[in-house]
Amino acid sequence: MNKKIKYSLIVLGFLSFLIFFIPNKPVYALVTNGQLYNIENKGSGKYLNVNNGTDSNGANVIQWSPDGSIEQIFRPVYYSSKGAYRIYAMCSDKGANRVLDVLRTGGSASGSIASGNNVDIWSTGDDDCQYFTFVSENLANTEYSIRLKSNPNLVLTAYGSGNGSGAGNTSTSMGNVYISTYTGSSNQIWRLKRLDITPAYPYRMTKGIGNQKYYVHSSASNFLTHITNGINSWSPTIQFSRANDNSSTAIDFYAVPNDAYAGEDWLGATNQAVPSYYVEPELRGWSYADVKINSDRFLIGTNNNTQRQVVIAHEIGHGFGLMHHNVSGTIMCANVFNVTVSTPQNEDREGLTSKY
Ligand SMILES: [Zn+2]
Repeated sequence: MNKKIKYSLIVLGFLSFLIFFIPNKPVYALVTNGQLYNIENKGSGKYLNVNNGTDSNGANVIQWSPDGSIEQIFRPVYYSSKGAYRIYAMCSDKGANRVLDVLRTGGSASGSIASGNNVDIWSTGDDDCQYFTFVSENLANTEYSIRLKSNPNLVLTAYGSGNGSGAGNTSTSMGNVYISTYTGSSNQIWRLKRLDITPAYPYRMTKGIGNQKYYVHSSASNFLTHITNGINSWSPTIQFSRANDNSSTAIDFYAVPNDAYAGEDWLGATNQAVPSYYVEPELRGWSYADVKINSDRFLIGTNNNTQRQVVIAHEIGHGFGLMHHNVSGTIMCANVFNVTVSTPQNEDREGLTSKY
């Protein structure tokens, strides 16, 4: 049986690392899996930008004056099997398709990856050209070199202080972004400006959001009130109606004993799935999600009905593609006891609406 299991838990007793950001200030942020960022070049102050937001293989990546456009928003997603990030361009299918990519010499699949080669966006596939690491270059961890995983000496570099262009794709084209051997020069250093949106996986539930159905299996009937409250808390971002079977549903609720999934220290767990198997939301879309409730812990492991509603709302967030958030003022904090809100917040809702 080739069943890939990936589930996201809301846990008990997990000491969460909290980071508080000041909104609407130019705070340079740490790199966080699934977060949306503007990526600013230290030398020029300009932002990494897909030229004209063109969503096609080979579209040039340049630097451009900050303009608030989706062309300048990127989502780094961490792949533990690679020990590195893909950097999804939000102008490509809302971050579910093309990624930052180094063009091989001569543009052929057998070409080398060398200093001076251009950076563009491309469909995922050529791993040596598409996985990057963020290496901190200052004590405050606010300045990074963005290094090619397959050759960490080669880093993302911007040329000059002006705006780039679609045709200017060499290492001496004004405003172009390419890779070069690291020297510590300021045009090889980047700062991350975090958007106040809950982190998310790059891919989506194929049903989308909007009017969706959910199903409550008989095993979870004891928790119907909490499920209903959690469901309703996502309105109006997601409008749910209850179905009598799971044939066309987006979210299915089950209850299982505490040791069936991950030992005892969990309250809820979510699997993203297509019919007959679970999927990894870092790698592809899914058509529905199963939410498990820990039948042994749910009523005694949470303090009150508000926290139970939060657990359900949190798992629904996973079901549609949200990741954990370090910020306690959102519904997606990993530890229910650190969640200071009872309903999805604007950051959580925008986390979904930015994807769908
Ligand atoms: Zn969780």
